[in-house]
Amino acid sequence: MTTATLIDSHCHLDFESFDNDREQVIQRAKDNHILDIVIPGTEKVFWERINKLCTKYKQLHPCYGLHPYWVNNHDKQDVDSLSKYIENTLPVAIGECGLDFRDQQADKKTQLYFFEAQLEIANNHQLPVVIHSVKATETAILSIKKFKDLKGMIHSYSGSIEQARQLIDLGFFISVCGSVTYDNAKTIKSVVKEIPLTSLLLETDSPDQADKKNMNKRNEPAYLINTLDAISKLRDTSQTMIAQQTTKNAKGLFKI
Ligand SMILES: [Zn+2]
Repeated sequence: MTTATLIDSHCHLDFESFDNDREQVIQRAKDNHILDIVIPGTEKVFWERINKLCTKYKQLHPCYGLHPYWVNNHDKQDVDSLSKYIENTLPVAIGECGLDFRDQQADKKTQLYFFEAQLEIANNHQLPVVIHSVKATETAILSIKKFKDLKGMIHSYSGSIEQARQLIDLGFFISVCGSVTYDNAKTIKSVVKEIPLTSLLLETDSPDQADKKNMNKRNEPAYLINTLDAISKLRDTSQTMIAQQTTKNAKGLFKI
């Protein structure tokens, strides 16, 4: 257990599943030294609730974007709305956006349209981008390469070590969640062992993806310490050192 502060780099604290106890969830995060939390956007209709939440709690930091999982709910005009919305609301990043090729709930072309439109907004506004990529990392890398100087993070990383190296060369951070605590998570464990600490971020992806100890429960930021513990053991590096460097990485990327 460390007393160094941590940042949850990706947490959907605006979701309804926190409506009954959000205050306590934020307090438990604080009690476990998680002082800053980055809230990614998912759909246009929810940007305002993120804005309100982050205005109320200074340790919460907003992102606005159009998530690929709900691509059928997005309208092409939402891209213009996003450009306008961020002018007054000052997010720490654009996203989450990306590609999810798991079950082809929306065609790849539509997903790519929204993804690259948001990369362009991030690039134009010199904001980092929060990328969701599931079974699509090769394609995501090709899209990223179209934009010079684009920076960001791949949240809940699930690609290979070779792809992680390419992304790091492109200036991206590899963000790791509770999935790394599971025994069968061989690929992410090897990625976590091999990448430089200066390219690593920690996240919970709450309310989803709880770690092994909290399997099948609603995830929350306080559980970030279990991911920290797993990474500390995998890398044979102290929790304090990992906490300090990943906090520095997140502060640098999001300018918080
Ligand atoms: Zn997410």
